[in-house]
Amino acid sequence: MTHILLKHATIVTLNDEDAILTDADLAIADDRIVALGEAPADFAADKVIDLSGKIVAPGLYNAHTHAAMVFARGYAEDMPLDRWFNEGIWKLESALTREMVRWGVRLAMVEMLRGGVIGFADHYFYMDEVAQAVVESGMRANLAWAVFGHDGGEVGITVPETVEFVKRWDGAADGRLRAMFGPHSPYLCSDEFLARTAAVAVREGIGIHIHAAETGGQVEASLAAYDMTPIELLHDRGLFETHTIVAHAIHSNPIDIAILANSHVNVAHCPSTHMRYAMGVTPVPEMLEAGVNVALGTDGAGSSVALNLWREIRLAVVMQRQARNDPEALGGLTPLRMAARNGARALGFAQSGVLAPGFQADLMVIDASQTHYQPIHSVPASLVWNTEPADVRDVMVAGRWLMRDRQLLTLDEEAIRAGFDRALAEMMAKPLGQFKTYEVDE
Ligand SMILES: [Zn+2]
Repeated sequence: MTHILLKHATIVTLNDEDAILTDADLAIADDRIVALGEAPADFAADKVIDLSGKIVAPGLYNAHTHAAMVFARGYAEDMPLDRWFNEGIWKLESALTREMVRWGVRLAMVEMLRGGVIGFADHYFYMDEVAQAVVESGMRANLAWAVFGHDGGEVGITVPETVEFVKRWDGAADGRLRAMFGPHSPYLCSDEFLARTAAVAVREGIGIHIHAAETGGQVEASLAAYDMTPIELLHDRGLFETHTIVAHAIHSNPIDIAILANSHVNVAHCPSTHMRYAMGVTPVPEMLEAGVNVALGTDGAGSSVALNLWREIRLAVVMQRQARNDPEALGGLTPLRMAARNGARALGFAQSGVLAPGFQADLMVIDASQTHYQPIHSVPASLVWNTEPADVRDVMVAGRWLMRDRQLLTLDEEAIRAGFDRALAEMMAKPLGQFKTYEVDE
């Protein structure tokens, strides 16, 4: 058992009282936090680390992404969502290879770890490759194998194969891995397929990660076809009877919000993508007020360009303030809590996201000595508004350092860059077809 003692740190706990401790110690035994504030007198540390001038906070969670899609960064810019799908992403993805996922997810993990992201909810293809990468990296992840289901069957992987995938990986890597179903969305999956997925999920105790209510057009199409909003449809077909992550849920009315709250649905809010594609303003304050667990995601780099959760933290706030003419919206530590504590809960890591005795030692150390951080009148304000990914010095998951002094300890960045370049060149040399078509009327 390894005992680590962090000393003289400013500790942002994100506990129920939002306590912030100054000149405080944090004692870690093996994978858990055993004491906060002052270490017990009998705590025999193998390693003592002085963190004067540093801020320690829970590590961040990216609650919705398609990590391997870093290959599509900047590929289809300055176009509406339907053209982004039809002329950009679904042409490029017709050439997707297993190799591209293998190296793309590793490149994504380098970017995320370097910005203090310790876990991610991933929704993509060839997810056994992603699982292997998570095992190696030491990160946490919740993996969903994306499925487009029609009345006639499934595209790619089948439901029974997805059950096998989930059973193989859920709880693996000492509990760092969770796995779920990944039906794409109500606008690209048939009604029958959604209901069948929900029935199997409930029977087998499997969670669901799905996209919904991204545009006004999708809501109108759903009302025309079912006389129900997308959120009402998912609820009616049983998808909320298990642990569910709904990405986006931008166009949620008060009844939808009540359904999300009562069904304990986790919402992944992705401000960069929502604003870049002018998709609308999610009623985040109303959702939080109603008790919905709203977490933050970057979505894939094909739509957000970066896996930078600090950018999402700030955009989540300014989006609400501008749209509502309310300079008090999402104040204080609220956006950081969404990115860390709410993210941990959304992904199914109940013992993470808070720095408190008994919780997992999942944290990041931020160097607050940089010029752009001076002065620090308010720790929450500095954290939310001044932190850049490069300010994250160290990252720990389950008591193990994954990055120390900006050095990645589990990932070989140079080899990953080379592998990624190779896989991308192979993919870009393939002739492009049309993977799918987006046909929702706007
Ligand atoms: Zn997405």
